Amino acid sequence: MALNITKSQKNTPLLTHQGYSYNFDVDGVDKKIWRCVLRKSRNCLGRVHTDADITTVISESKNHNHTPNSADCEKRELLANLKSTGKASTESTGGIVATAIEGLPVAVLGKLPPLASMKRTVQRARQETIQGALKNVSSRSELILPESFTKLKTGEQFLKFDSGNNNQRILIFSTLDNLAQLSSSKHWYADGTFKTSPSLFEQFFVIHGSLGEHVLPLVYILTPNRTRSTYDRALEAFASAFPASRQRVCFFFISHNASGARFNNCQTSCTNIPLLQTSP
Ligand SMILES: [Zn+2]
Repeated sequence: MALNITKSQKNTPLLTHQGYSYNFDVDGVDKKIWRCVLRKSRNCLGRVHTDADITTVISESKNHNHTPNSADCEKRELLANLKSTGKASTESTGGIVATAIEGLPVAVLGKLPPLASMKRTVQRARQETIQGALKNVSSRSELILPESFTKLKTGEQFLKFDSGNNNQRILIFSTLDNLAQLSSSKHWYADGTFKTSPSLFEQFFVIHGSLGEHVLPLVYILTPNRTRSTYDRALEAFASAFPASRQRVCFFFISHNASGARFNNCQTSCTNIPLLQTSP
């Protein structure tokens, strides 16, 4: 029977065998040596040796100082799988956790951490992936966005505009549904924020549209700074990508560019103020 190998939460190989879990320890001659996961916390000396291809257990010590527990093994595997799935999947964190625990025996469910904790595990794993994709990038001109950042899981292009690999780079993200919603919104609202902007960009600018009594963020723009020329370029790009918006966008910029100064107070001056009337 094939051995059950997963990745531990530390991304190292985890072997489950007859109710015990083992971490990979070291390579031997034509074999691999594994130690009980409770070696440090409970000073357990349990070990198994597998062949080099990890297809079979060739020897095992019987000196565990605790009883086997399949539920504990399943719990470890589930938590490790949450992490790997979080890195690879674009499904919501709640959806990943719900799928992972569906159908689990009560004995395992009772050992799991709270749902909020498992969701945080997924979120942290996802964040690690994002940071990993962006590490070693020191300038906007070097930034190469992986496809997971530019497309939805439906295949639709989420990155609608990229001004190119230069230091004055502007990125615009939206979806076809969002744009349809925006074009049917009577009022638009714009809100620039700086604290949550990715480090390579100075501002995260959002265009909202109204849906009934609700105001929804529909277009996301990353800009390199807050100068007038950058605002001009960003809105010109938006108008070029979505021609129906051109005149309203220009009106917005003219009204805010009157001073010719930086838009340091954009967030407060724009929030919750209807900026653009898109229909007569
Ligand atoms: Zn043990």
